[in-house]
Amino acid sequence: MTMTIFTNAKLADGLLRDIHVENGRITAIEPVSPQSAGSHNIDIAGELLVPGFVEGHIHLDTSFYGGKWVAHRPCTNGFDVHERVAFQADNMARAEPMAERAIRQLELCIGHGALQMRSHVMVDGSVGLKSLETILAVRERYREIIDIQLVAFPQSGILKSPGTPELLDEAIGLGADLVGGLDPASFDRDVTAHLEVVFGVAQRRGVDIDIHLHEGGSMGAFTIEEICARTEALGMQGHVAISHAYGLGDLAPDAARKIAARIAKAGISIMTNAPGHHSFPPVALLRAEGVNVFSGSDNIRDSWWPYGDGDMLRRAEIIGYRSGFFTDEDLTVAFDIVTNAGAKALRLEGYGIEVGAKADFVALKAAHVPEAVVGFPPGRRVFKAGRLVAEAGKVRLASG
Ligand SMILES: [Zn+2]
Repeated sequence: MTMTIFTNAKLADGLLRDIHVENGRITAIEPVSPQSAGSHNIDIAGELLVPGFVEGHIHLDTSFYGGKWVAHRPCTNGFDVHERVAFQADNMARAEPMAERAIRQLELCIGHGALQMRSHVMVDGSVGLKSLETILAVRERYREIIDIQLVAFPQSGILKSPGTPELLDEAIGLGADLVGGLDPASFDRDVTAHLEVVFGVAQRRGVDIDIHLHEGGSMGAFTIEEICARTEALGMQGHVAISHAYGLGDLAPDAARKIAARIAKAGISIMTNAPGHHSFPPVALLRAEGVNVFSGSDNIRDSWWPYGDGDMLRRAEIIGYRSGFFTDEDLTVAFDIVTNAGAKALRLEGYGIEVGAKADFVALKAAHVPEAVVGFPPGRRVFKAGRLVAEAGKVRLASG
């Protein structure tokens, strides 16, 4: 394969550089050379070149994005996970085919520059492995333009939904990359038994863990401590993520700092999408204690809420907005959460704009990273392995 030079690329440090790419990898980063303007080469024209965004938490199986509008149904009494799951089952029974919906959502994300993704897919007694089979096929179809990790997600609980422990194990055999969990105390009402299954599958199959935890306050903190203890006992530091961890946002700063140190010691990553309707983890405090915080869109126009646009830059802005981030340094933190921190949580190899890394990057019309976070500019060019895969929101290489 011939070498391609991406010339006049502005990097995060503000310098204009030529990025040499061969066989999908960055082989050199050089000062701009006038000779680089050849026909094989691509002119970035002084735009900001950043690594592809890490969409670290999404649900490809449940979105209605791009299809018929599904009006949100409020819970009868505040936020209730059980009721939401029931509404979702009802909506899904009448939804368009899952593959079509998943592809629309996937292309939305790629168009904005997501090139790495972790999607949770429902695996439980009601849907069995059907959703996973559909999403595995979608992943295969898009494998050359986005890397997708799939989490076997027990949306209906593990203990409350008969057959789920066995299904989670089978899901890994079928091709899921991680095992998930859901509110061990508030949903399944048995933290020990729930975590026994999750960590059991992870140990048996040698996979990582990403647990949904909506539990608030001290209940959430208790479950987090239990997850930390198991992670350390099994030597799984760096292989476990907790998604949402809303409870961390309910704690007083001293208590939050104490548990943050515990989470950091266990090497657990925390995912937040900075939801608008209740408390969420204190991002700056967690980072100060050494916790890796990453992000994702989570639900996009589905049975949980009508929001979401699949743009991880917009997500960085929301995290910054809700966290009281104002300085350039703060905005750069928000950017780190949707790029490098995501790569760390997903344990991605070859991530970043550096020699030896994969040539997965996005060219943006922004002067620098802080401006990209507050402006989330349109008209992006998205490159996977050095090939243009999306431009101005349109995916170009979808096969079929
Ligand atoms: Zn989720």
